[in-house]
Amino acid sequence: MSPGITTLDLAGVSRRFGQVTALDGLSMTITGGEFIALLGPSGCGKSTALNCLAGLLPLTAGRITLDGKRMDTQPAERRGFGMVFQNYALFPHLTVERNVAFGLRMRKVPKADVRSRVRAALELVHLEHLARSHPGQLSGGQQQRVAIARAVVLRPPLVLMDEPLSNLDAKLRVEMRTEIKRLHQELGLTTIYVTHDQEEALSLADRLVLMKDGQVQQIGTPEELYAQPVSPFVADFMGFRNQIAGTATDTGFTFDDGTWQGRSTVTGAAVAMCRPEDLRVDIEHNAIKVTVEVVEYHGRQFLLEVRTTSGLKLHAVCYEPHNPGDEVRIGITPDRLLVFEP
Ligand code: ATP
Repeated sequence: MSPGITTLDLAGVSRRFGQVTALDGLSMTITGGEFIALLGPSGCGKSTALNCLAGLLPLTAGRITLDGKRMDTQPAERRGFGMVFQNYALFPHLTVERNVAFGLRMRKVPKADVRSRVRAALELVHLEHLARSHPGQLSGGQQQRVAIARAVVLRPPLVLMDEPLSNLDAKLRVEMRTEIKRLHQELGLTTIYVTHDQEEALSLADRLVLMKDGQVQQIGTPEELYAQPVSPFVADFMGFRNQIAGTATDTGFTFDDGTWQGRSTVTGAAVAMCRPEDLRVDIEHNAIKVTVEVVEYHGRQFLLEVRTTSGLKLHAVCYEPHNPGDEVRIGITPDRLLVFEP
């Protein structure tokens, strides 16, 4: 079913609304079959980027090229991309089968082909048995499956998804995430997926594009963004919840509560960041004394909010129960500490 595009090239793709630059010079080359997640906080320009790709919004600068063919000058319907939205956008008066067949019929695909392709698409999303139902009779997860089948049945060169799971409850979200991953593995369709959820982006994408204020902050594989964020903003977004101001030398980081050994490429005034799961009660290395203030039960572990002697608030993890008011020591292995310029 794969349409096999080789390259989608974005060069300086920008969109302004009056004084607001919603998308500021997005440049990247996407390889056919890649799953790209556009990630970032509310208002960072993710949807604007997706709508520019879809042809729903004209660019104010830049160009989009698909296998050497200029796309940004083409209207949405000529691009032929598959779209999946947050609100499903199904036709309520058409059966599931007819919703999925709609695009094929518009394209005057022969009837027998329409029938077999619709059946195959519904099988892919496990909805064969609901072919004759109407969208109103389906659950949210089932409706989103129909929307996905409708997008992939066209064998589009590009599938665009805008927060497709955000209207589903937590359990269904995780199930549908796996479904989308499986579908991508089976079909290999080049996909661009917008989300504000870092876990969703990390688990689905081959590469992530993290954005802020319309600008790309970092592009990389899930492993790169998870382990090597390039800035405090990216680190914070990727779960490095602890942020400490201090001074760095090439062998350590000194702050109000002590010195943590660790290698740093930065010297002088600096910001150290680490994940709660790396700052632990059972680690002796670099240990400092803190007072437990809040204890959250997280199944395999407890998440602690603690306060240091100097009054700094940190988040740490332990595996034995503790109570508010307890004095404990928390440590961190040097390789888990990131040090940035402030
Ligand atoms: P969210 O996750 O909340 O949907 P987003 O990352 O998708 O956010 P966009 O919807 O792309 O962000 O918006 C980016 C910026 O552009 C915001 O500052 C927004 O207010 C602005 N913006 C978006 N659409 C318009 C519009 N039609 N007119 C004016 N400003 C707009």
